[in-house]
Amino acid sequence: MKTAPGTTVIHNGRLIGGAGAPPIANGMLHITDGKIAYAGPAAKAPPIAPSARRIDAQGGTIMPGLVEAHFHPTYFNVAALEDLDIKYPVEYVTLLAANNARLALECGYTAARSGGCLFNVDVWLKKAIDNDIVPGPRLAASGREICGVACLMDWNPDFRKIGMEGLVFLINGPDEARAAVRKLVKDGVEWVKTYPTGDAAAPDVNDHHTLCMTFEEMHAVVATAHNHHLKVTGHCRANAGIKNALRAGYDTIEHGTFMDDEAIDLLMIRNTPVIPALRFELASIERGPDIGMPQKIIDGHIECLEGGAESCLRVLKAGGRLGMGGDFGFSWNPHGEYAKELTFFVNYVGFAPLDVITCATKTGAEIMGRSHEFGTLEAGKLADVLIVDGDVLADISILEDRRRFLAVLQGGVMKAGKLLSQAQPSVN
Ligand SMILES: [Zn+2]
Repeated sequence: MKTAPGTTVIHNGRLIGGAGAPPIANGMLHITDGKIAYAGPAAKAPPIAPSARRIDAQGGTIMPGLVEAHFHPTYFNVAALEDLDIKYPVEYVTLLAANNARLALECGYTAARSGGCLFNVDVWLKKAIDNDIVPGPRLAASGREICGVACLMDWNPDFRKIGMEGLVFLINGPDEARAAVRKLVKDGVEWVKTYPTGDAAAPDVNDHHTLCMTFEEMHAVVATAHNHHLKVTGHCRANAGIKNALRAGYDTIEHGTFMDDEAIDLLMIRNTPVIPALRFELASIERGPDIGMPQKIIDGHIECLEGGAESCLRVLKAGGRLGMGGDFGFSWNPHGEYAKELTFFVNYVGFAPLDVITCATKTGAEIMGRSHEFGTLEAGKLADVLIVDGDVLADISILEDRRRFLAVLQGGVMKAGKLLSQAQPSVN
């Protein structure tokens, strides 16, 4: 991805570094050749050449770009899970994914870690973003997901004879688990997404307390993936599934819904990050009745919302790491609403706004294994920066509104925001 040549100064804003320190009231950022050269109080900033480009933050917030840590670029706001595998051909899914990537960047997400994808679109989407062919977040690519036969993701009845080729490898036993990972290695993914447990969204037999892979299958996935330097994550709701994943050596836990003391202890041994994607449950409860969701499923989402909120608070209290990602891409949880997860964590779960920002920036970069490159505003890191109209710590919901972004920068290049559209007036 190209970086901006020369020097840029961002001034006149409240600076949030992303590492959890309180904001600097009159902050300043110096960017040289796409990297941060200075981030701190304006009063202590080194002198700068008069030729430097200047961006006025207009008294708003200067902060690191957000990281969407559970992103599904290939999910196209589906109304029913069954649509995911068979509704569109790969050609159209690819175009939809490129559109979702651009949208995420416009929403202030300068990086994203995929939580699974259709076909092998992520790997090539990442390449296109890295080569500036399409705009989007710096991407960590997942591939097709792995789930046990007859479990959560095996929803097509056998008489249809259509399998789940686009979305999931359905496996029986450790040998098939290894074979699936080897296909993913060849596909070029960075993350292996698995389904250790079911979900409230599933009809009856694969609910949120059901296991969808055996420990042996999960361990085979981890051993094979780690051998090839891939990371492993999994959809974990049931308590036993979370513990299986932690004991098997998973690199992150998605959802982590029902955690007891033992699960927290296991989590803290390697400080494994959890990506709750919890607002999905609230969205399902609120919008479910309108789209004909059965009451039994809504009840399951209520149980997951309550259990999940409690688990998140316990992880935070234990000093664990949480990433912010929202599982967006369903009709009741559509792309573009990414920052609603952040507001939800402040208003519903009860996190402090500064903690949520740290989860959504620094921890997101750590999850991607790229915290040396971005995630905080520090000298030497890429200038992936947001300039926001308003005080996001006073009202975090400002981040939900794209019109409040003055600028979204990647490597110092302005990619979106009001200042960009003013610089490039519409031809209409
Ligand atoms: Zn997901």
